[in-house]
Amino acid sequence: MKIAVIGAGPGGLYAALAAARKNITVDLFEKRKVGEGIVCGECIFDSLGIMTRPGRGLLHPVKGLVLKAGGEYRFPLGSHKPLWMLDRRIWQQDLSRQAKTLGVRLHEQAGVTVSDLVRMKKSYDWILDASGAPSVASRLCGFAREYVQECLAAHQVRLAGDFSSLVPCIRVVFFPDLPAENQPGYAWVFPRDERSANVGVVCTVRKTQGPGRPDMKKMLADFLRREGLAGASVLARGGGIAPARMLSRLVYDNVLLVGDAAGLTSALHGGGIDMACLSGVLAVKALSGGQAGAARYAGWLERYMREKNALEKVTIGKMRSLTFGEFDRLLSGVTSASLRVRFWTALQNPLMFWTTIRWFKTKKKIPDWPV
Ligand SMILES: Cc1cc2nc3c(=O)[nH]c(=O)nc-3n(C[C@H](O)[C@H](O)[C@H](O)COP(=O)(O)OP(=O)(O)OC[C@H]3O[C@@H](n4cnc5c(N)ncnc54)[C@H](O)[C@@H]3O)c2cc1C
Repeated sequence: MKIAVIGAGPGGLYAALAAARKNITVDLFEKRKVGEGIVCGECIFDSLGIMTRPGRGLLHPVKGLVLKAGGEYRFPLGSHKPLWMLDRRIWQQDLSRQAKTLGVRLHEQAGVTVSDLVRMKKSYDWILDASGAPSVASRLCGFAREYVQECLAAHQVRLAGDFSSLVPCIRVVFFPDLPAENQPGYAWVFPRDERSANVGVVCTVRKTQGPGRPDMKKMLADFLRREGLAGASVLARGGGIAPARMLSRLVYDNVLLVGDAAGLTSALHGGGIDMACLSGVLAVKALSGGQAGAARYAGWLERYMREKNALEKVTIGKMRSLTFGEFDRLLSGVTSASLRVRFWTALQNPLMFWTTIRWFKTKKKIPDWPV
């Protein structure tokens, strides 16, 4: 079997690795050089338990959250579903080296156009489109608008400064005046080390919202001013969207969508690295089973995301329906050191409590993990 993978981001790299391990011939096309041009907070929510120890671009585990709404709340993180800080450039370059060792033919600075894709559909058995959102396939098949009906928009800077008082924790700040339709929305400070951090803002935007949509650059500038970071030197800057909803269709003839191209980022926080990796591996499992396997791909993804999506839906509902003061009390309750307060908060929010428990207890088997 011979396949092409479009895009050497997390989704494409894991797909290429998984396919090479099955002795499938793989051509991996990346429009830039691997690891270049990444705009990301670089905090991976390791819902799959695939991160083990620092090294190869994995910087350090995040030990706690500092959450700010009305008050400021510290929330230590356990090891069950950990967060890690990544240097994505190094991490992706290392994955690409592993892929090449396994025989993957990597073509850098080789952007795939719509007409290339038409040709490739005839010359490869399968194509995994992991080119992000909007994907190359979406331009060919006319579904690019599906990514932006309702998505998360984000803008961030990498700052040089003194972050020693925060590392190895991360800081998340909620906005008191963000309208319900733009929730979830928040700002983040994710230190990479003591001297640099990715700092950004994210919120939900809708295509129907028109000119009233939040100005992400202004939101970020205001946040930096409030945090006393406006004078810090900016090492890099950029923005993008997180599609936040799995697309209604993931297979077009012999093309399977992977990662952001499939709309797999979290609707709550916009993170999508973990699901990109998983979908790359599952897409290879699917195509190994031919058309019947491909038809089951979306169902497998849904099964993996069921408990996470249920919890995110309840949390988003809270963020949209509660006043800022009520949301602040909820945060204060769930992060309280007092068991009695946490228990009382759970009683007041039974659906949230049970979906959290269900999500925490879920441990799903990961198929043939390639790294
Ligand atoms: C500002 C911002 C901050 C974020 N922060 C986080 C975070 O902290 N944690 C987290 O988990 N997620 C975060 N995300 C989301 C995360 O970046 C994505 O979910 C993740 O990168 C998806 O991986 P992917 O492989 O599907 O796509 P991408 O990482 O987008 O990779 C796509 C690759 O395809 C290449 N490509 C594109 N078009 C072509 C083409 N025509 N031909 C060939 N190659 C092509 C691109 O160059 C790129 O290398 C953030 C998103 C944004 C916008």
